[in-house]
Amino acid sequence: MSFKNLNLINPIIRAVTEAGYSKPTPIQHLVIPYILERKDIITCAQTGMGKIATFVMPILQLLKKYAPEHVNIRTLILTPTRELAIQTEENFGIFSKYLPISQLSIFGDASAGSQLAALRKRVDILVATPSRLLDLINQRHIDLSKIEVLVLDEVDVMIDMGCVNDVKKVLKLVPKKRQTLFFTARMSSNIRAFAETIVNNAIEITV
Ligand code: AMP
Repeated sequence: MSFKNLNLINPIIRAVTEAGYSKPTPIQHLVIPYILERKDIITCAQTGMGKIATFVMPILQLLKKYAPEHVNIRTLILTPTRELAIQTEENFGIFSKYLPISQLSIFGDASAGSQLAALRKRVDILVATPSRLLDLINQRHIDLSKIEVLVLDEVDVMIDMGCVNDVKKVLKLVPKKRQTLFFTARMSSNIRAFAETIVNNAIEITV
C-alpha cells in the first residue's frame, strides 16, 4: 500500500516522500480514507504509530481548495500540551510545503505578543491548548465560527490534565456542522460517552 493508493494528491505525496516516509503506517492506512470521505472518527491508538500525520495529510487535502476569501481559521486541533502543539504544527508545515496553507500553534507559556502578531496574518489551521485558546477567544482575537474540521488529540491526556471543561467551552463555539476527529490512546466507557457527545455517526477504529 502506497500513499498514492490512499488517493492523496501529488503536492502532499511529494512533501511526504521528501520527509523520508516511503509508505503509510497501519493507522494511516486504516484512517486516512475515512477522513478524506469527511467521516467523523473515534480512533484509539498509542502515540508513536504515525498518528499526527494520520490527520495532518488528509486535512491538508480537504483544505486544498484554497480561496483568498477564506480569511477565517478553517481547522482547529486541540492538544493537551505545548510539546504536542509544536510537533503538530511542525507536521503541518512539512506536509503543506507545496500547498498554499498556513498553520499556527498557540500554547500557554509562549509570548502573548508574538502569538497575537501571528494571529493577525492568515491562519488556515490553528493548533492550540484549550486554556490558551479560551484566553485568546475571550480577548476576541480568535473566531471559530468557520471551523470545518475539528480534531481532539490525546483526549485521554486532556481528561487526566483536567482540561475537559475548557474543551466543552470551546465545543460551544465551533459550528455544529463540521467534521470531528477524536483521538485517544485509551478507551473507557467514560471516554466513549464523552466522544459520543461530540462526534456525529462516527466510525470507531482501534489500532
Ligand atoms: P507520531 O505517532 O505521530 O508521534 O509519529 C511517530 C514517528 O513516526 C514520528 O517520528 C513520525 O515522523 C514518524 N512517521 C509518521 N508517519 C510515518 C510514515 N508513514 N513512515 C515513516 N515514519 C512515519
